[in-house]
Amino acid sequence: MNKQSKKTNFIVSLMWFGILLLILTSCSDEAILHDEFAFSGSTMGTTYHIIIVGDSIEVLQRSSIATQVDSFLLAYNHIFSTYVDKSEISRFNRNQTIEPIPVSAKLLHVVIAGQELCVKSGGAFDITVMPIVNFFGFGFEPGENRFPTVDEIDAWLQLTGCDILEAGDTTLTKSDPRVSIDLSAIAKGDASDEVANLLLALGFKNIFVEIGGEIMTHGVNKFGESWRIGIDRPSFDIASGVELQHVIQLNNMGVASSGDYRNYREVEGRRISHTIDPRTGSPIDHHLASVTVIAKTCILADALATCVMVLGPEEGLSWLEDYPQAEGLLIIREKDGSFKEFTSSGFRQYMID
Ligand code: ADP
Ligand code: MG
Repeated sequence: MNKQSKKTNFIVSLMWFGILLLILTSCSDEAILHDEFAFSGSTMGTTYHIIIVGDSIEVLQRSSIATQVDSFLLAYNHIFSTYVDKSEISRFNRNQTIEPIPVSAKLLHVVIAGQELCVKSGGAFDITVMPIVNFFGFGFEPGENRFPTVDEIDAWLQLTGCDILEAGDTTLTKSDPRVSIDLSAIAKGDASDEVANLLLALGFKNIFVEIGGEIMTHGVNKFGESWRIGIDRPSFDIASGVELQHVIQLNNMGVASSGDYRNYREVEGRRISHTIDPRTGSPIDHHLASVTVIAKTCILADALATCVMVLGPEEGLSWLEDYPQAEGLLIIREKDGSFKEFTSSGFRQYMID
């Protein structure tokens, strides 16, 4: 099924950059069982959309929930955004020392998750990729309009890798003072988990949280069924939600996508992806157009999607197949522009279209 199902109505047509997923309602003839409170905003250079389903929520409580989520995300951005000069990550990156640097528990948690994935993916996922991301113009620096020299690549490879940072109980230690980190491929997923946890702690059970396309779900939607999520067809220059590749249904699971078609640049006449292969110091160069991963947490789904994107179609699929409790959909762009898809063995149980 490549087009939007006739049975499916959008309730939120989410427009964003770098996003491949959007939420859908269910069949129009189904009865609405529960009240729904939906709100949205901006964070981390993208948007967020949240839906809480349950008994009707008072107007005052609604505004308090929205304020708590917004404040949480503001504080989160002040830890994780490399675009905010005074953020914890920016200060950490500027701190050119090989002494242990005290860091917050939140930063440490995401760094450790990133390092674990780095080891598991053989270095395909690497949070120390920041200098390469900056060179290609996908970071906080404007970037170059040329390809790097062999010497430049060699220099980066000295500053990247799974063991170039050492995590302590409350500190991180750089083994080279110039090491800098980029958590963009994992922080949105973590933030979705954290916001969902915040709402669970407030007593809500049916929750949908989406930040920049990375989604965490708990419980059911207003029809009393699992949350329905559309996966975009990875076409260049087509807005999210216009063409769907599939619809999936989830509860108590996270889902995230990586793609080659929303965030890219032209350098010396070549289209380059924002996903970097840290093992070679170059943007990925294969026919994998998008990867969608479903996992128990959104932080894991988010990081795994990038891992598979770097590993490429064959290695990525077999690596994901062996990864416990995670399923994926890989969409390959053929030379004639058509798409071919592959799924891990358990992905189809989530597909409804
Ligand atoms: P996508 O939705 O395509 O995964 P994300 O924003 O989640 O996009 O992650 C891509 C970002 O992650 C890049 O812009 C870059 O900052 C960073 N990044 C690129 N390559 C890697 C990599 N191999 N490992 C970790 N982070 C990466
Ligand atoms: Mg990601």
